Formats: sequence, C-alpha cells, structure tokens
Amino acid sequence: MADAVKRAWLTIDDAPTEDFMRRVDELDARGIRAIWFCLGELLERYPDQAAYAVRKGHILGNHSYNHPAFSKLSLDEAREQIERTERLIDDIYRRAGVPRPVRLFRFPYLDDGGDEKRDGLQSLLRGMGFEPAGFPGITYAWWKRQGHHERIDVACTYDTWDWKLQEGAGILPELLARMDEREPEHGRGLNEAPGSNEVVMMHAWIPFDAFRLLLDKLLTKPLRFEPPIHLSVRIRPVDQADLGIVHPFQCEYLERESAEAWLRRVEAHAGLYLAAFAGDDLAGIVYGHPSRHRDDAADLKGIAVNLDHRKPYARRGIGSRLLRAFERACRERGFRRIVTGSADDPGVEAFYRSNGYRPVGIVAKDAAGRELAREVPASGEAESADARKEALRRETNAAETLLIFEKKPD
Ligand SMILES: [Zn+2]
Repeated sequence: MADAVKRAWLTIDDAPTEDFMRRVDELDARGIRAIWFCLGELLERYPDQAAYAVRKGHILGNHSYNHPAFSKLSLDEAREQIERTERLIDDIYRRAGVPRPVRLFRFPYLDDGGDEKRDGLQSLLRGMGFEPAGFPGITYAWWKRQGHHERIDVACTYDTWDWKLQEGAGILPELLARMDEREPEHGRGLNEAPGSNEVVMMHAWIPFDAFRLLLDKLLTKPLRFEPPIHLSVRIRPVDQADLGIVHPFQCEYLERESAEAWLRRVEAHAGLYLAAFAGDDLAGIVYGHPSRHRDDAADLKGIAVNLDHRKPYARRGIGSRLLRAFERACRERGFRRIVTGSADDPGVEAFYRSNGYRPVGIVAKDAAGRELAREVPASGEAESADARKEALRRETNAAETLLIFEKKPD
C-alpha cells in the first residue's frame, strides 16, 4: 500500500446535541479532534455536553444563534446572531476551565451573504475578532478561485452531503460510495494522495449509526486527521526567563537592543510584551508600553511573526491573534486607544487596516531617521491617507513615509 497520506481536519456543524458526549467519544476512539460549529440555541440547551467536548480537546466554533441564511439578514441582525453565540461559547470555555484557543465562524448553509453582503460580513467577522482557520496545504484551484484562501469564515473541501440524511437513511450507501469518487476539482478529492489537504464537513444531528459509518469510511481514505493547529499555539506574557529565546527574535525581526535593556523593558511593562509559542517554538511577539503623550493610550512598538513558511503554524493568523491579545492586555490596563507607526510597507499597512486600525498621522523621515514633516490625514478614509502619504514623500523627498495607526479597542 502506498504510504502517501495527506492532512485532514474534521468540522461538524449544528452542534451540540443531546447525545453529544457519545459522539465526542466516538471521535476520541478514532483519535480525531474536531471543530464543532455550534448554534447558540443548542448551546443554551446542552451546555454540559459542549463543555465536555472542550475538556476533551475539541474546538467549538460559532455557527450563528439559530441558523438563518445570512444573505437575508441585515448587518445588525448578523452581528446579533454572532455575538449572542459568542457569549455562550465564551461561557462554555469558562465553565470547562479551558482557555479559548481561537474564534472560528462558519455560515449556516455556507451562505456567505452573496455578492451584495459578502464584504460587509467579512469585515464584521474580522472586527469581532474571528480568525481565518488557515488550514495549510489546500491546493485546489477552485478553492482559490472562490476566494476561500482569503476569507475569515471556515469553508470545507469535502462536503459529506450527510445533511441529505434528513430525507431518510436510505441515502447512506450513496454517501459512502461518493467518498470513493475521484473528482478532485469538483469537491471529491479524498482519494488523491499526495494532493490537496482536506477540510471535511459533517453534521452533529445525523443518526448515530450513520455518524459512525461515515467516520469509519473516512478513516479508510489516505487522510491523517489532525487536531486544529490553534490548540498548539499559546499566547502569554513573557518574563525574564524568556530572554534566551525572545530577545534574539526581537533583535532579528524588530529592534536591536542589549540584553540589559530588554530585561528592563520586560520588567517595566510586564503584561504588554506577549509571545506566541507553538510547543517550545517561538511563533511571534508583540510588545509596547504606555504612551508618553497621552494617559489613555498605549504605544504598540513592535509585532512580528516567524516568517519560516515551513512551520506548521505559518500563515495561521498568528499576527492577528497577537494583536488582539495585546489589545486585550491594553484594555485590561485601562488604555482606551492603541497607537502604532506602521512600517513603510503596503502589506503591513493592510494588516493593520484589516485588524480595525485607521490612519491618524503621516510622518516623513530622511535616511537618517530624522523627521521631515508630519501631518494628519484629512479624513479616516484609506485612499486619502495613502494619497497624502505619497504626496508627502514627493514634497519632502523623504527616504520613508510612515502611517500612524490608531485603534480604540471596545
Ligand atoms: Zn448548519
């Protein structure tokens, strides 16, 4: 037998259910940890069942409160659906005594709002702190063509069609046979290994026997089911014992400073220097300190992620997670705004913008880093700030022009 296998992640929608713990046990018996996309109304009914899954190392994601089609909702209604469920999921994690590793969202019916509402919903999700699942190695052309590689919501590469079981169990042989098909560019690529990794979608409410049979059939495929990478990345404040690993990283990616200065920084602003670890591996850092100009503000001085794209956690939204952890730390310390100077780089500027930062200043500097000019963009609109930035570069003949970004975390 060929030992080529590919990686797969299992996502299960419309959780939890009354017999949820049994289903979690079935997965555990097969060594699979799943992402369960939960409905708020079911979390209200089965909180203990949901907490059980969390304690077993599964992940709960948000699937709205009561499963509406999002293309039929206003943005306010969409926010209400999502927020209500977020509060319930946070409660479950608290109840389970487990830190919530990630905020993931899947649209009911995979209805992402359609052309009219898609962009608005994506920025709503971003603004609410959702993160792209960032499953690596999804190489289907259709996946990219449909833009899934850039979206916040979690799609799937293989839909088991198990939702058809609501019409009766007679459909089950057809669902099982479908897994044997080889149509990778039409969403049926389980048998192509090596090939694209897979995100498999099932439903939590299907008959229990069908649930087991579908799982068993999946395990005959050349797939290695992995726990979501988010479980292995943890963000925490650094302390002085992290000198040996965090300080060289900072010197390589951001500011160079002596070990003594670094230790003083960490001592003075404990809690505003955070690091993301994947096991023992340092995946990224973020740090800052109280503003010297405004009592209610904190300066974000540096943020960087390990750029080695071979790392299993590469391109999993760790930068955004670090940013949100920093914002939380600032909020807890009473800071009402966060200010940062972006690198003179469209990619970095886009990163801040997509995380809810808006430009509040433009600074032109010469090659020695001396400030040549500074101005406030006329309005918060991205285009006008970008245009003024380029104009200022020409007017002052600057070596670099930087945008100053600000965010008021709520
Ligand atoms: Zn659903």
